[in-house]
Amino acid sequence: MAKSGSVEIRTSCDHLAYLSSDLAHIPTPDTPCSRCQHPNENWLCLSCKDVLCSRYVNKHMLQHFQQSNHCLSLGYRCLGHVLFTFGNSDLSVWCNSCNAYLDAQVIMQLRPVYETACILKFGEAPPFHIV
Ligand SMILES: [Zn+2]
Ligand SMILES: [Zn+2]
Ligand SMILES: [Zn+2]
Repeated sequence: MAKSGSVEIRTSCDHLAYLSSDLAHIPTPDTPCSRCQHPNENWLCLSCKDVLCSRYVNKHMLQHFQQSNHCLSLGYRCLGHVLFTFGNSDLSVWCNSCNAYLDAQVIMQLRPVYETACILKFGEAPPFHIV
């Protein structure tokens, strides 16, 4: 299990320009890793919408970042961390360049894809409707 003591959640990120312009259609949470076919708990690249496995599996998302500089990814499940406890939500957004989790509630650019991912995973939008 990862140690979570040093994990930071940021409310800003300088890399949001990498976000795909079409995040209304994203792969479903059970999409396998496109390289090793690891079946679930993968990460979605928010730049090219590729689905890749985590650093706890075969590190394909990490390799993808190193090769393409696509730093923003959305985790359909983040092992060892319970960072976003909105109801039963266990989605998280990670920036490899910031080396930190991003608060999808606060960062407006992340909200639409976060909401879409919640609907895909839980069948409903996340419970943040604070304006
Ligand atoms: Zn960043
Ligand atoms: Zn993989
Ligand atoms: Zn990518």
